[in-house]
Amino acid sequence: MAQVVISDLVKRYGAFNAVNHVSLTVEDGEFVALVGPSGCGKTTTLNLVAGLIPITSGDIRIGDRVVNDLDPKDRDIAMVFQNYALYPNKTVYKNLAFPLQMRKSPKAQIDAKVREAARVLDITHLLERRPRELSGGQQQRVALGRALVRDPRVFLMDEPLSNLDAKLRVQMRSEIKRFHQDLGATVIYVTHDQLEAVTMADKMAVMNGGFLQQYAAPAEVFADPVNMFVASFVGSPAMSLVPLEAGTAADGSAVLRSPSEGWDLPLSPLNARKVEAAKSDRIVLGARHSAIRLHKSAVPSAVPSRVYTVEPTGDVTFVQAFVSGAIVNISLPPGVPVAPDEPVWLEFDQERLHPFDGETESALR
Ligand code: ATP
Repeated sequence: MAQVVISDLVKRYGAFNAVNHVSLTVEDGEFVALVGPSGCGKTTTLNLVAGLIPITSGDIRIGDRVVNDLDPKDRDIAMVFQNYALYPNKTVYKNLAFPLQMRKSPKAQIDAKVREAARVLDITHLLERRPRELSGGQQQRVALGRALVRDPRVFLMDEPLSNLDAKLRVQMRSEIKRFHQDLGATVIYVTHDQLEAVTMADKMAVMNGGFLQQYAAPAEVFADPVNMFVASFVGSPAMSLVPLEAGTAADGSAVLRSPSEGWDLPLSPLNARKVEAAKSDRIVLGARHSAIRLHKSAVPSAVPSRVYTVEPTGDVTFVQAFVSGAIVNISLPPGVPVAPDEPVWLEFDQERLHPFDGETESALR
């Protein structure tokens, strides 16, 4: 397996930069998810690493070689696509063997590799079937097997689970994770599904508009998003973002003020310091659903709110409520009686608040 180093990578189409000066290093054996909304440039980045499209500028190194000008077949990579790209008229065995036959590997070696891949992916009993006789999950396993037999230095996967139904997707998610762990493979995995990225990857590269926004372990991206885009992209339900203003309480301490409703939210010393150091007076308060406590009557340091919707899911009830004109998500244990339009008071866990600069949208540090 190999390290992949992407340096200052640019892909331009006319005047439009689909990939904008992206740099990141995927360590040997690491599972990295490229994640972001539709059109953010993740597939383009993957295709540049694969060599399927030419780069505009920058460098891509796989192992110790700069591969900018190498053909895909000379890059020692294997791709797994969303549509599996299996040969419909060949058996599973022949689908797996085909990449090796193209390389003119000896027959005995091909047989050994096909059987080993089939064993790893638990598809030995399917070797004589054709793709149309397989379920979606089985087809996906064959597609993985076809990548595996090639012994690549890097696996590149583009939304490999998006054609599967929700239940199978969760199951295959664990299987691909296991596949990565067992092989110690270097994997670059494109998905628009932040949950897939969070659950599978060692690191996630969050992209938006062709720019890399944050590159870190999922836990770090979740706990310490660098800006409002990342904060609202990662986590479900999304982090709530409430536009407020920096203000000063009677005792001189920094508070966040609701411009429309006039109340002040007191801040912990750390959050107060962050708000005081901000360049802008416009501050956006970020809070995840689990960092907000709902009270049915006024308590000190809670802000007034009104319930918008109540969604019981069984384990947990999600409530949406208005705060200073914005909608926030709150999670409650099941069975707490709360109704739409009810006035409530919300208390924020100061340790888990994320204040952002309202102009630059960056996290306040
Ligand atoms: P999705 O999840 O929808 O596949 P993505 O993040 O993978 O999105 P890309 O396919 O990388 O996005 O595309 C990034 C941007 O580049 C998009 O705005 C797309 O329209 C544009 N783009 C991609 N290929 C071309 C092309 N051949 N010519 C012009 N623009 C392109």
